[in-house]
Amino acid sequence: MGLTTARLQAQVPVFTKQDSLRGSITEERAWWDLVHYNLNMHLNPADSSIRGMNAIAYRVLQEKQVMQIDLQPPMRIDKITQEGKSLTFFREGNAYLVTLTAPQKIGAINKVEVFYSGKPQVSERPPWSGGITWSRDKQGNPFVATSCQGDGASLWWPCKDHMYDEPDSMQINVTVPKQLVEVSNGRLRKVVDNPDGTRTFYWAVTNPINNYGVNVNLGDYVHFSEVYKGEKGNLDCQYYVLRDNLSKAKKQFKEVPRMLKAFEHWFGPYPFYEDGFKLVEVPYLGMEHQSSVTYGNGYKNGYLGNDLSSTGWGLKFDFIIVHESGHEWFANNITYKDAADMWIHESFTAYSETLFLDYYYGKKAGNEYVIGTRKKIHNDRPIIGYYHVNYPGSGDMYYKGANMLHTLRQLINDDDKWRSILRGLNKEFYHQTVTTQQIENYLAKQANLDLNAFFNQYLRDVRVPKLEYKIINNKIAYRWANCLESFNMPVKVTINGQEKWLKPETTWKEITGSSTGKFVVDANFYVNSSQVSYND
Ligand SMILES: [Zn+2]
Repeated sequence: MGLTTARLQAQVPVFTKQDSLRGSITEERAWWDLVHYNLNMHLNPADSSIRGMNAIAYRVLQEKQVMQIDLQPPMRIDKITQEGKSLTFFREGNAYLVTLTAPQKIGAINKVEVFYSGKPQVSERPPWSGGITWSRDKQGNPFVATSCQGDGASLWWPCKDHMYDEPDSMQINVTVPKQLVEVSNGRLRKVVDNPDGTRTFYWAVTNPINNYGVNVNLGDYVHFSEVYKGEKGNLDCQYYVLRDNLSKAKKQFKEVPRMLKAFEHWFGPYPFYEDGFKLVEVPYLGMEHQSSVTYGNGYKNGYLGNDLSSTGWGLKFDFIIVHESGHEWFANNITYKDAADMWIHESFTAYSETLFLDYYYGKKAGNEYVIGTRKKIHNDRPIIGYYHVNYPGSGDMYYKGANMLHTLRQLINDDDKWRSILRGLNKEFYHQTVTTQQIENYLAKQANLDLNAFFNQYLRDVRVPKLEYKIINNKIAYRWANCLESFNMPVKVTINGQEKWLKPETTWKEITGSSTGKFVVDANFYVNSSQVSYND
């Protein structure tokens, strides 16, 4: 999903100690490696409160005694224990620094239990602002969901709130009023009725999971399921929707197997067969929660019924089912280490919309769609943000990013190879957190292209390269302008109806010959072009 508007508007960010505590791998984080979260919580819609305990198992990497745990006010940590002993801690804004007393031997797997409570931040604009949405369905039943991309999971549960480290597995045990159904990530292991009129849902995730991917959803859900026969065998697909929407969902969610088929073709097997796939209705637009993608697109095609590309192609699919599920490969399987590299999630996923169309409606449809989305590009800030302060780059990471990848596909000029690179990425970086350098290097190596200037131009600069050309008699001169000095991307043009690859640089080059008529740059390249006078 997306970014907050406040962030999009900020031009000259000022960073604080809190931004560093949140966004960097602090000394108090670096020495321990997450193994498992066992999150237990009571979710009480009657007073909008949460209380619970997260048991954090970790592997000791260095012998240190101070540990950083994150939890944002108004939530508070009440107690932290290790081996039955209460520990001392102090709070510095959103971070708690805990002093451990037991020896921390390298290689040991230890555990702390973090007890917490409070009334968590309410999301003002889910999913773009983080927090809880306490809503009600048409019958007046509580309809509640968490969303915390960007603002952080520590809005509602205590954790190591940095993307570089993921637990190998997780349990999410949520106690709720008995008449309601609670849905989280992974598989439902059991449901236990408690004597106090509550019910506890036990969910287990057997794969690494990122912080913001963890979610809790509560409602008067009904449920249906199907088995998708995919590349890795039988994939369990479970659908949870509000009682009133069952028939609409049964129709609209036919999009899920279609999505899986297209994405397994382009990206390889769905990355979490062990945990199944779920689509869960929520009171906001949607989010890529791992193995429990959330859905609030109104059972309509497009983005809330709209075509983001204005080409008609955007109404051929349910945007939320396609886009948010695309993130299972790019966000949940391959996850950025630092929010500055969020393009790894959003550019590939925005491009997954094009690939979905390409798969079902042909290459022309995909091309038209991705080109149509260019009107959403602002070129306001670079796509890559600021490192170590949890600060992503421009919202251009979506459609400029998608158009950058589309341009790269033209350079590769071989769709089988392009597909094998996309599948290769998901294999090479399977269940990993990565940096932009790793992704850039992999793409360059597999494509066998020098892409340094290409990525610097599109990810780290706001200018859109312009191909300038001059035509006189039987000569055409051309160069790249409005770009980095080193920008030297080949480009496909048509001269008098004949396709030709040019290798422009930022200095003028010439071709001579009969070709002096109509000069057109291939529209699939995200560049501008203009004819200049021969005297310029
Ligand atoms: Zn997204």
